[in-house]
Amino acid sequence: MERRSIAIDGIVQGVGFRPYVVDLATRLRLAGFVRNDRSGVEIEVEGDARALDAFLNEIVVRPPPRAQIEALRWTPRRPCGESRFAIRASQCAGVARPLVAADVATCDACAVDLFDSTNRRFRHPFISCVDCGPRFTIVTEMPFDRQRTTMARFAMCRACRAEYDDPADRRFHAQTLCCHKCGPRLQLLAADGSAIETADPIVAFAAEILAGHIGALKGLGGFHLVCDARNESAVAALRSRKRREAKPLAVMAADDAALDAICVATPHERELLHAPQRPIVLALRRDEADIAPSVAPRQDRVGAMLPYTPLHHLLLDAVGRVPLVMTSANLGEEPIVYRDDAVRERLAGVADVFLTHDRPIQVRCDDSVAMSVGDQTSFVRRSRGYAPHPVKLAFNCPEPILAVGGQGKVTFALARDDHAFVSHHVGDLDGRLACLAFADEVEHYKRLLGIAPRVVAHDLHPDYFSTQYAQEQAREGGARLVGVQHHHAHLASCLAEHRLAGPALGVIFDGTGWGPDQTIWGGEFLIGDCGDFTRVAHLRQVALPGGEQAVREPWRVALAKLRDAGLAPERFIRRPATALRVVERMLDRGLNCPLTSSAGRLFDAVAALVGLRDTAAYEGEPAMAFEQLALRERPAGEYSFDFESAADSTPLTIDTRPLIADVVGDLARGQSAAIIARRFHSTVAAFVAATCQRLRQAHGIERVALSGGVFMNRLLIEDVQERLLTAGFQVYKQSLIPPNDGGLALGQLAVAAARMASYGNSKCV
Ligand code: ZN
Ligand code: ZN
Ligand code: FE
Repeated sequence: MERRSIAIDGIVQGVGFRPYVVDLATRLRLAGFVRNDRSGVEIEVEGDARALDAFLNEIVVRPPPRAQIEALRWTPRRPCGESRFAIRASQCAGVARPLVAADVATCDACAVDLFDSTNRRFRHPFISCVDCGPRFTIVTEMPFDRQRTTMARFAMCRACRAEYDDPADRRFHAQTLCCHKCGPRLQLLAADGSAIETADPIVAFAAEILAGHIGALKGLGGFHLVCDARNESAVAALRSRKRREAKPLAVMAADDAALDAICVATPHERELLHAPQRPIVLALRRDEADIAPSVAPRQDRVGAMLPYTPLHHLLLDAVGRVPLVMTSANLGEEPIVYRDDAVRERLAGVADVFLTHDRPIQVRCDDSVAMSVGDQTSFVRRSRGYAPHPVKLAFNCPEPILAVGGQGKVTFALARDDHAFVSHHVGDLDGRLACLAFADEVEHYKRLLGIAPRVVAHDLHPDYFSTQYAQEQAREGGARLVGVQHHHAHLASCLAEHRLAGPALGVIFDGTGWGPDQTIWGGEFLIGDCGDFTRVAHLRQVALPGGEQAVREPWRVALAKLRDAGLAPERFIRRPATALRVVERMLDRGLNCPLTSSAGRLFDAVAALVGLRDTAAYEGEPAMAFEQLALRERPAGEYSFDFESAADSTPLTIDTRPLIADVVGDLARGQSAAIIARRFHSTVAAFVAATCQRLRQAHGIERVALSGGVFMNRLLIEDVQERLLTAGFQVYKQSLIPPNDGGLALGQLAVAAARMASYGNSKCV
């Protein structure tokens, strides 16, 4: 007879670990107990040595499906002659190093119960089990137990209690367990907030949707705005009320058959769609899809997703399985609405009807958005289902760190030891609401994860809210600051994700990032590791007439590029002569014309030249349309480019003037926009590969890390990767974390940790 004390770290709470351990111990006739503590799970178990070995082995080899074990340690104890195995109350005192489980979509078994008329949870909108249901969005504190979630207010009924206590039941010890009798209640509200009495709120809500109205539906991490995706006037109304001019809206399809009717998903995309995280997946839209044009105007792709809550399943059933627009309930770029007390105020005039319930959402969490690039996942936005699962670092952080991200597509990250907790999608830190939400959510993570950061890493841009927030943390909380150059953070994000110590050559192509020389960077080749970097090459700088205004009006950048290449703009810029003159005068005098090496702006400029877009609906939109255009053609040759300085002088400059001249030549010959787009993409891939080869000769570096928002362009990244692999490089792309600014926080954190480690704690600023 032996007794062992076992400590397990990892994502082991909220994933059915305790009931699993009870079942296993019982089968092996072992006695003892299991309980959650503030770091993970603690087990004491006694029995004969062979059974104990089998017990440990089984936990490691076949843990519960949603669990991720990071460490398992055991020590011998003196046997105490226990006869049964039980779950004990959670241990709330002691060290706190919890990992928090992310929300999980309704599992197959629960979906079956949901539509089984003999099941006592038939059509219960809050059905869940140990394998599925809300987690991160309902937990208020760790350890994960019902009383520390927003389910605390719902006392289990007798029948639920019996299941909860029955080790043979598949809902044994499920913290989110409830039923029609004891669970949260749905409520249907009219536009004015008055309650609508109805026998079945879901059916009544569905009828409103089918009648062409816009609904607000309470989901896991916030409200969605919902309408019939086939109904053009409903979708157009949703767009105008939400003040969302052009960005595509996501569509929820009931099942595979409904999905196949709207898009052509590759096997990898289908796998992503069915993953328990249920992200929105950008898949090729079927030409004959019955989807209103306003869902994704001028897009070849549609953001599709499958139902992930019981309420979604019931709603899609009630509308007869037609596709529904399902988009974050917010105005413009404001944060998603998630609190009932704010919903009617903020969505007044937007939603015609509200379907809500009385289980509070503890923290908002937007849907994740992913795509498949060469059968690898690439995140546009990593949020619900993934946050707050940590990225495992290859190093230990000397002290707890907070990294605050940039300005757009913001996530923040907290780190302790070798865990980087990258937050859900916070969004653009432009409005007051977004900034307030950001500060609140940082505090929530600090409390939940038990991390008190001593170091705050931030972008170098002085005007970003996140930078100012970091400075305030330093002033008030005494945290030390680490400023991280924007593109260095992108490089470090890729290195951290791949657990590379460096050095590597980072090809970082994005829209905008503050350079230490006070110019705007964005087409960068950096050699470095997490600690430091050298800018070894960049795109030729051109003036950005009007600064930010040029991002919204790419024709301005096109004009600047033409003039820079010594070409007359009149023929190729479709703007009134007076507008041209104003911008030309700005360029002549250098007024409000910051210099930029941005790759994003190069894409914008050429998209404007071929007449695709004179203005951008949002940043990156012209480049996306340009990629789609290019995909209509096969590879059709390349334009020319040049290097401005010798290979051994730093930094090397990639001269894009020959490229612009060639584009203009093609335009003059009446070449099609699609061919120009295709040639342009090939040219960018060609000069990336050529630059990497030159830099390899000069610096002997073989590893290339690709990051930055421009690499959301599938055509470009696949072409670049292929050329680099052919040339013998090792290529690293981002797959766990977005390559866009949603990945900055992870990089900032890695840079801060590396600087602390190499310079010591006092000198890291
Ligand atoms: Zn389930
Ligand atoms: Zn119940
Ligand atoms: Fe960036």
